[in-house]
Amino acid sequence: MFTNLKEQPKDKIMALMSQYREDPREGKIDLGVGVYKNPQGVTPVMRAVKAAEKVLWELESTKSYTGLAGDPAFGHALSDLVLADSVPADRLSMAAQPGGTGAIHQAVELIKMASPDATIWLSAPTWPNHPSIIKHLGVNMTEYRYFDNESRAVDFDGMMEDLKGVKAGDAVLLHGCCHNPTGANLTLPQWKEVAALIVEKGATPLIDIAYQGFGDGLEEDAAGVRLIAQTVPEALIAASCSKNFGIYRERTGLLVGISDNAQQAGITQQNLTHLNRQNFSFPPDHGARLVTMILEDEGLKADWMAELEEVRTGMLKLREQLAGELRARTGSDRFGFIADHRGMFSRLGATPEQVEALRVDHGIYMVGDSRMNIAGLNEETVPILAEAIVKVGV
Ligand code: PMP
Repeated sequence: MFTNLKEQPKDKIMALMSQYREDPREGKIDLGVGVYKNPQGVTPVMRAVKAAEKVLWELESTKSYTGLAGDPAFGHALSDLVLADSVPADRLSMAAQPGGTGAIHQAVELIKMASPDATIWLSAPTWPNHPSIIKHLGVNMTEYRYFDNESRAVDFDGMMEDLKGVKAGDAVLLHGCCHNPTGANLTLPQWKEVAALIVEKGATPLIDIAYQGFGDGLEEDAAGVRLIAQTVPEALIAASCSKNFGIYRERTGLLVGISDNAQQAGITQQNLTHLNRQNFSFPPDHGARLVTMILEDEGLKADWMAELEEVRTGMLKLREQLAGELRARTGSDRFGFIADHRGMFSRLGATPEQVEALRVDHGIYMVGDSRMNIAGLNEETVPILAEAIVKVGV
């Protein structure tokens, strides 16, 4: 039987990671993998997570199953963090998921169940796992223009032009904040226009929010999602706690469905629960429980927010430093977009040859499309990167 299996394409980021590990050079710089690293190159366990784990170890009396949709307290706490009071609670349904990836997978399955002929519209470019999950589940997809390679900003006119082709029953996938891989994001007035278009077309937004708190702040980063939630009758929101709680391996995420009314929300809930049952039964609980404990405890929440803010402002400083170093070296502001972008990533706009030269000649690793992880830098390595960017002729 197994001889029928075909080779799977290699994951490019995983391949880059192993190339980096095998590189013997002392000063090599890893801007590849999408994980936050502090200036020492470590992905730390956040203080509030450690503190919650200690309490959990003392208090947890059972590891028996939770509910199929996870612990409702987790759903309430996380949906509140994302949506605040933008939607009445009786229009929400939710199910805990193994990470944001699990939430996206389940969202696509739900779309397939509800609207088998739907097309899912993806930004060009997007996180590669989006199209690969959609393809795996056999759902139609197409792209809308998003990133302008010249200005390295959002091509909003192109985006709106392309989204005119959306049909009733389609889904539009949007990044809630901190767009991966580009770092270029919609402004609030632009979110408003997108929301109006989605309503006009009778489409359903699927919002992937994996970096809340990494851009302009916890509230600011959720503003677009909340605006959509307030405007549209239906939406799906896939939230990940991997980055903002630093609990990548605990696989913690939530899929939220917003329905038109309370009765529909009940049916949507049954379907979310059903999908969990078919795919893995009970979602992982450890990370979800830590998140719930942190969000429900004033002291832990304050400490988590303070540490997240250190992470966010640290990345912003690196962005400004890099834009400044490049301004000084080129005498132009053409790299100013690096300071305008938000989140962990920026797409530099280098050619594949230049990305290769950065790796081969300078030991600087970024993804082939020139996505760089800003958190892979520190004050000392920023000038080295700026020098190399100029040298390879970006
Ligand atoms: N969406 C985007 C855009 C991401 O970058 C990521 C993480 N790389 C995720 C979702 C999901 O992450 P996880 O499954 O680890 O929560």
